[in-house]
Amino acid sequence: MTTFELPTYVDVEAAAKRIAGVAHRTPVQTSRTLNEMIGTEVFLKCENFQRMGAFKFRGAFNALSKFSPEQRKAGVVAFSSGNHAQGIALSAKILGIPATIVMPHDAPAAKVAATKGYGANVVIYDRYTEDREAIGRRLAEEQGLTLIPPYDHPDILAGQGTAAKELFEDVGPLDYLFVPLGGGGLLSGTALSTRALAPQCVLYGVEPEAGNDGQQSFRKGEIVHIDTPKTIADGAQTQHLGNYTFGIIKRDVNDILTAPDAELVSTMKFYATRMKMIVEPTGCLGLAAALSMKDALKGKRVGIIISGGNIDLERFCALAAA
Ligand SMILES: *Cc1c(COP(=O)(O)O)cnc(C)c1O
Repeated sequence: MTTFELPTYVDVEAAAKRIAGVAHRTPVQTSRTLNEMIGTEVFLKCENFQRMGAFKFRGAFNALSKFSPEQRKAGVVAFSSGNHAQGIALSAKILGIPATIVMPHDAPAAKVAATKGYGANVVIYDRYTEDREAIGRRLAEEQGLTLIPPYDHPDILAGQGTAAKELFEDVGPLDYLFVPLGGGGLLSGTALSTRALAPQCVLYGVEPEAGNDGQQSFRKGEIVHIDTPKTIADGAQTQHLGNYTFGIIKRDVNDILTAPDAELVSTMKFYATRMKMIVEPTGCLGLAAALSMKDALKGKRVGIIISGGNIDLERFCALAAA
């Protein structure tokens, strides 16, 4: 078995310095209605207001900032149809690094356009007959590009941990913190900040109910792989956690919870109507889980990370009307 060193809070602090003045220090919102609903104080860290609309900019910019001059010249490659692609494309544009993004043929036209809009070279592949990781690796080898994966990378997860660092700095220690979970970059980075700044805080990852591979892995003590889950939470449709992310999650997280799609929709409507915020379904995981266990949260200080707000208006309306 290969051994590898897990990043620490020192890496999150270094990431915070690299992204300072480039990433937004996003606001922490509160809602009296919400506090009354749960009988507690709730603090919402709004990464839906981050650049490109999700926390993924933090990890991407941190990773690309660490490139050597040779790596910068040759460029970066990433495979993703979602927020990671846009985070890499925007970071590369800011840093003057050529970017190649491998996207599926059926990726939403708006996402392809946004990625191209940041100046990235988009390579389309067939989701059903081709393997995106193999394409990414081939491009990396042939053209000397550096491949940056969406979550299982020390610089990515350290960058994602800066959101929770800001949250604790702004509001002080919390009793509970709820964090959306896909491949675990956000949750593992958050865990590093939590154990450093609020060691007693109960930290939960929250997955879509249809894709609870993280919960299974956490309980079994080893990484469990599943088929791509059917859920509206497209940012958390991952099939498995990573070696780095699971190494930190199993050590530092208290438990993994799940939320059904119907509760993501009702939470999305709550954010829109009561707080005037557009939050994508994956970004609703944290509050959906907190609302379903509100009796346990009475009188506590509760943090929620809203991970992103990227959803087509048509899709938002369709989900809200259903
Ligand atoms: C990527 C993403 C997640 C999941 O993050 P991981 O680091 O893969 O766990 C959650 N919410 C949004 C909006 C995302 O884009």
